[in-house]
Amino acid sequence: MKEDFLHYIWQHHYYRKADLATTEGEPLQVMRTGYYNTDAGPDFREAIVKISDVEWSGSVEIHLRASDWRRHNHQTDLKYDQVILHVVWEADEQIVRTDGTVIPMLELKDRVDTALIYTYKQLQEARSAIPCANVWPAVPEITKTMMLGRALTERLELKGQEILHLHASYNHDWEATAYHVLCKGFGFKINQVPMERLATALPVTVIRKAQSIVQVEALLFGQAGFLTDAETDYTHQLSNEYKFLSHKYKLQGTAMQRHHWNFMRMRPANFPTVRLAQLAAVLASRQHFFTAILEAQTIKQYESLFMVPVTAFWQEHYTFSPEPAKAQSTMGKGSAHNLIINVAVPLLAAYSQFASDRAYLEKAIELLERVKEASNKITRLYEELGWKAQTAADNQAALGLYKNYCQPIQCLQCAIGNKILRQNMLTQS
Ligand code: SF4
Repeated sequence: MKEDFLHYIWQHHYYRKADLATTEGEPLQVMRTGYYNTDAGPDFREAIVKISDVEWSGSVEIHLRASDWRRHNHQTDLKYDQVILHVVWEADEQIVRTDGTVIPMLELKDRVDTALIYTYKQLQEARSAIPCANVWPAVPEITKTMMLGRALTERLELKGQEILHLHASYNHDWEATAYHVLCKGFGFKINQVPMERLATALPVTVIRKAQSIVQVEALLFGQAGFLTDAETDYTHQLSNEYKFLSHKYKLQGTAMQRHHWNFMRMRPANFPTVRLAQLAAVLASRQHFFTAILEAQTIKQYESLFMVPVTAFWQEHYTFSPEPAKAQSTMGKGSAHNLIINVAVPLLAAYSQFASDRAYLEKAIELLERVKEASNKITRLYEELGWKAQTAADNQAALGLYKNYCQPIQCLQCAIGNKILRQNMLTQS
């Protein structure tokens, strides 16, 4: 058993209240459990209890064993002198404040429903990836829908917070932040790290000064380390442009190298050279990408932010090799939707927090509800239980539920877990 289970029992009053008394035998009445304290000090603040005929207000500290008080050195910590009740699973010793006065204690071990303890242990000790898998089908759909909705919102808020950190590191420049997120997005699964490195090696302020898409390509491919051999007229042109621009913008010595990029185990359409050509097309198509993300309204408008035709060379090549191949003029819809999910949506979520305007978060969720996303090994875990993802919003919700609740076994914080525990609990007297 963990202490958070005792917190849960205390917070929800899931203990037998008949003849409630302290370990000293004094009648006890809990008027208010208090507010859970996430800072240093006792676990619950501003609780009110009545012991015998005296009403006390102060803090409540919770431990598995009373002797944990000493193990945690609370007997010398003045913050714990305000504790009015020590709630423990097992009262194995008496505890006192720094001035030697005894702290009233409530022992829970004979007051908690055995079915509740059994269900809790089953969730904690389950070996399956989704600890509640056995009972998942019996949980009402409304509870699952509500929890998945919460998990989605929390996931987007977390992604938004990560972008707000990035935004601070870019001196609160939204266009520079969006450029970094865009570069990372174009790395898709395999080349995110080098793409982020490129975003640092080639600041958006330099990209903004480019006069043509050829200059944007020269800067991107040059800084990425792809312009070392000039085998075609096209690569000659890019190399010359890059030499000129890297000197002009003092980029010498900051370029990456070709070996930083991964070409292994991927279809040619996903090669980083192809993605860089597509990124160049997007960057050259507009000066203010972040503004466009905020202002687009329809799914088509969001798709068109990313599905910009590449230059002639890249319509016939996957790499700088002179031999032509049948490539695509724009990225496919699946890739554009991936960028909506991983670039547009997190930027909208971040801006929602920055501007304290929930409308942007709702816009992000609506976007997710309109795009499809292939299932992955995590969403399949829930699909095996009978749940079916219809849209990217469902997929992202399942990812949030898994990473923040199921994987770390945070069932006590989960609405589904609470429903399961309540369903299995016998009526408290
Ligand atoms: S966190 Fe919720 S959904 Fe996940 S295993 Fe626990 S109860 Fe089930």
